[in-house]
Amino acid sequence: LNTQTHILLASAALIPVLSVHYRASVTRGPMAWLSVLVVFGAVLPDASLVVMWLIAKAQNVPDEIIFGQWYYSDYWTRIGAMSNSIPVFSAVAALSFVTFRVWANKASVMSTLALGLMAVSLSALLHTITDFPLHHNDGHAHFWPLSRWIFESPVSYWDPLHYGRQWTVIELILAGALIMYLWRKYSNIGARALLVLSGLSYIGVSTYWMITF
Ligand SMILES: [Zn+2]
Repeated sequence: LNTQTHILLASAALIPVLSVHYRASVTRGPMAWLSVLVVFGAVLPDASLVVMWLIAKAQNVPDEIIFGQWYYSDYWTRIGAMSNSIPVFSAVAALSFVTFRVWANKASVMSTLALGLMAVSLSALLHTITDFPLHHNDGHAHFWPLSRWIFESPVSYWDPLHYGRQWTVIELILAGALIMYLWRKYSNIGARALLVLSGLSYIGVSTYWMITF
C-alpha cells in the first residue's frame, strides 16, 4: 500500500477502538495525541525509506539508481527488515496491551503510556500485515529477526508487470471509501483538512511517478 493508504486505514480501524479504551481508563486531558500516535505508527515502517530517499536525493542520486540499486543493498534491506518486523511490532503490541490491562484502573500514567505504545505498535503492525501480500520483488523480511525470508507475492501494489495497475484501482477505491468514512465520523476542521490533503496526495504522488518513470 501507499503510505497515505496506511494512514487512512489505521485511522479508520484503530482510532475509534482506542478512543473507547481511552475514555474508559483515562478521563482527563485531550485525546488528539492518540490519533497522532496512530498516524505515527502507520508511517513508521516507511519512514526510514523516506529518510534514506531524501538523503540520496540531496546527493543528486537519480531515482533509477535509488530504486534499482540502493533499495536492494544490504544496508537498506536490513533497515527495511527492522522497521517492517511483524514479530517485533506484535511483541510490543502484546506487551503494551497486557500493561494496559494490568494498570487500567490503578495508575493513569502507566495506562496512558501503555495505550500510547499500543496505538503506535498496532498501527505499525497493521501496516506490515497489509504490505505483506502486495510486494513482488521489493518486499521486506517481514519475520525478522526470526527469519530472513522475503515473500515474493504475485501481486505488486505498483508494478504494472504484476497486476500493479489493477491493484492501484482497488487501492484508490479503498482510499475513497476510507476518506468518506472518516469524513462522516470526524467533523472537526483539522481532521477534515487532513482528509482533503490525503486525497490530494494521491494525485501528487501518481504525478511524480509518471514524471519520473
Ligand atoms: Zn510500507
